[in-house]
Amino acid sequence: MVTRTPGQPETLTDDPWDMALRQFAGAADHLGLKRGIREVLSRPHREFTVHFPVQMDDGSVQMFTGYRIIHNGALGPTKGGLRYSPDVRINEVRALAMWMTWKCALSQLPYGGAKGGVTCDPSRLSAAELEHLTRRYATEISPLVGPYEDIPAPDVGTNDQIMAWFMDTYSMHRGYSVPTVVTGKPVVIGGSAGRREATGRGVMIAAREAARSIGRPFAGSRVVVQGSGNVGGVAARLLHEQGCVIVGLSDVRGGIHNPRGIDPNAALARLKETGSLAGYPGADAVSNAELLELPCDMLVPAAIEGQITGKNADRVKASMIVEGANGPTTPDADDILRARGVTVVPDILANAGGVIVSYFEWVQDLQAYFWSEDEINRNLERLMVRTVGQVTRFAAEQDVSLRTGALIFAVKRVADALMTRGIYP
Ligand code: GLU
Repeated sequence: MVTRTPGQPETLTDDPWDMALRQFAGAADHLGLKRGIREVLSRPHREFTVHFPVQMDDGSVQMFTGYRIIHNGALGPTKGGLRYSPDVRINEVRALAMWMTWKCALSQLPYGGAKGGVTCDPSRLSAAELEHLTRRYATEISPLVGPYEDIPAPDVGTNDQIMAWFMDTYSMHRGYSVPTVVTGKPVVIGGSAGRREATGRGVMIAAREAARSIGRPFAGSRVVVQGSGNVGGVAARLLHEQGCVIVGLSDVRGGIHNPRGIDPNAALARLKETGSLAGYPGADAVSNAELLELPCDMLVPAAIEGQITGKNADRVKASMIVEGANGPTTPDADDILRARGVTVVPDILANAGGVIVSYFEWVQDLQAYFWSEDEINRNLERLMVRTVGQVTRFAAEQDVSLRTGALIFAVKRVADALMTRGIYP
């Protein structure tokens, strides 16, 4: 069942919640999941919508809408990021929450899935406005969150500073410091070494391991990365370090292309300085849509959902897609890509590095004992290699795509937990 907000211009195929439900239905069919369990997992457990005022710098008051949606907590406290973007809608948050349930289950983390967000444009808010918005939103959703209940983290449009304000607000209400309430915090207040780079590092490991499993060369691969943020930027740098050639890179405004290769360090430094990748020496300007269709071996969509669709999937040249973003490929596109023999390393596998190191951060905070960056990276590597290996072997045995294989594995784990716990009362 798809719930739509009136007036929202969503078509059935582009709606992220519809996408998430279709993916789940495919895995549930494969597993022969009982109707009751299917029903439970087809709906988010808790949906919280908040409308709240923020005092702006010019003295005016502006209303904002935010969400925190808990999809399922059968495996443990729920986990998932907070997104600040003008496009945040309830169906997007629902889908992202469901994907978190599968992502945590797939990597065998003791967490359920959740997601939150505020409909706002953080680039148009001053630091003070962003802080007021975050502290008020944290207060509004505080009935749901807690170290053993629901633990937010950064996502698109949020960062470690926002997590610090969130942690401070929660701690002020309690009267003592509670670092375990969010992950992705600055290291000085209980954040983890390596957390900032973790998602991008995980993307690089997933790409390398998936290439190995299908017997493709990795070093020397021509790679296009969509997105230059915390995921795309880090993935581009680490893939370049591993000997891949970055031939295309983009940010929200557009991309650059050079078939002979782009140095991601120089391009990202330019982006930081000038606010744009445009004008990078020796590269041609391309639109974000053109970027996805550039000649390359590997495409890393690391921006937002719904980028590779039934409309452009047949023009994608890459033979491997590694999903840094959540939900960048629609189910229609998945069908086209599979028929064309393109390997898609799905989001819940490829971008799990972020939540894996969030888990390490939470464990370190609970024990008040911190690990070195080297230990973090070694443990991340171990978990990613194990999970990619499990999924690639399972998908090959069952003759299904990596997405279907990953979803079957994850959904089975959540369904087993649900059945073991039973239905209360
Ligand atoms: N927002 C990230 C994700 O989509 C990280 C979530 C977390 O660390 O809890 O996986």
